Amino acid sequence: MADTALMSIPGQVDPVPAPRDITPRADGRTDLMGVPKERIQELFAEAGLDPKQAKLRSKQVFHWIYHRGVSEFADMTDISKAMRPWLAKRFVIARPEVVEAQHSTDGTRKWLLKTADGHEYEMVFIPDADRGTLCVSSQVGCTLNCRFCHTGTMKLVRNLTPGEIVGQVMLARDALGEWPKGSMAGLDGEEDSSEYRADGRLLTNIVMMGMGEPLYNFDNVKTALKLVMDGAGLALSRRRITLSTSGVVPMMGKCGDEIGVNLAVSLHAVTKEIRDEIVPLNKKYGIEELLAACAAYPGASNARRITFEYVMLKDKNDSDEHAHELVRLIKEYGLPAKVNLIPFNPWPGSAYECSTPERIKSFSNIVFEAGISAPVRTPRGRDIDAACGQLKTAAAKKSRAQRDREAAEAATN
Ligand code: SAH
Ligand code: SF4
Repeated sequence: MADTALMSIPGQVDPVPAPRDITPRADGRTDLMGVPKERIQELFAEAGLDPKQAKLRSKQVFHWIYHRGVSEFADMTDISKAMRPWLAKRFVIARPEVVEAQHSTDGTRKWLLKTADGHEYEMVFIPDADRGTLCVSSQVGCTLNCRFCHTGTMKLVRNLTPGEIVGQVMLARDALGEWPKGSMAGLDGEEDSSEYRADGRLLTNIVMMGMGEPLYNFDNVKTALKLVMDGAGLALSRRRITLSTSGVVPMMGKCGDEIGVNLAVSLHAVTKEIRDEIVPLNKKYGIEELLAACAAYPGASNARRITFEYVMLKDKNDSDEHAHELVRLIKEYGLPAKVNLIPFNPWPGSAYECSTPERIKSFSNIVFEAGISAPVRTPRGRDIDAACGQLKTAAAKKSRAQRDREAAEAATN
């Protein structure tokens, strides 16, 4: 079985990518969740099916998993009755375990999930009048320690597997009752098209904005998002998927080329001094380098703008001068941009306060008057700690002070 130990990362270092593509299981069966179709075919062949059978069965199973949401081989009615137990003995189609499901008064839902090897992570669903957005996690914790982010205070980190990432989308579809209804169990597999429901979905958009830095888990995020976009399965358009990065510059071009989703960048400050403090990754990839990578982002255009996220921290990054500088930078780099102003969401022990509504309004007006859209994001799900930056599982609750102390000790040892 693959090593599932968590990585303990004391300071500002890149995580070692976990060498695993299949979610490990204690019972020895192979979990097909998150496995690409071609790989399912290989696994079926390795288990003993002849090449033609392996190809046919992988196509059928893929359809049942991602188009129909079925997780029992017994329900796959176009696969022969004898074959179904053969598959079930060797394979499984798992979902992340739900530890707790919470509902906010504003309709936002948060799920605390658990991996097969016992690590906890979270996903959030945010319903709006015209869309429903699922906020998906890419790692347990995060190595990057942005000073305003609760997830960044988690000491323990491991990359999520493709199955654990796409499993979040599957679970959300389960919870929202969004699989096509067709006639399934025990029948001959023929569908009544009148029962088939493809439109009017609640889950319309995905944002990679949960726990973790998605570009530090590039391969697994890519595999998972390819499955989400596959027309034979979940079939969500790449235009409805946004990946948010804190600025992992060397991976940004690759993200545009190989995944092709919308990009959001957590800018949060316009001077080196302030960004170094609040987004420490800035010491490695500075603002100029980051904006140049944005200007070169494949697929960015006026029709597909790059979103700059800007958390509003009182007396830190929220002055009129900062707003003017933000406009200047966006213009200097010729960026097709919009700016999302995020009121800071506090958490126990956080070192900052949210800017006043007047300050946020003034900042927004300056950016807006320069011709750049600058909406203020309404915080959602604050009452259940589901808002931006509030995600943190109980696994490793340590104070910032304790964390800094440990990092200092590790540096002197
Ligand atoms: N790691 C990625 C994606 C996850 S964070 C990234 O940093 O971009 C999603 C967004 O929430 C980021 O823009 C992040 O900076 C922001 N955020 C983090 N903590 C926050 C807080 N306490 N209040 C408001 N926004 C926060
Ligand atoms: Fe990690 Fe993003 Fe939080 Fe920074 S803001 S610590 S990159 S999750």
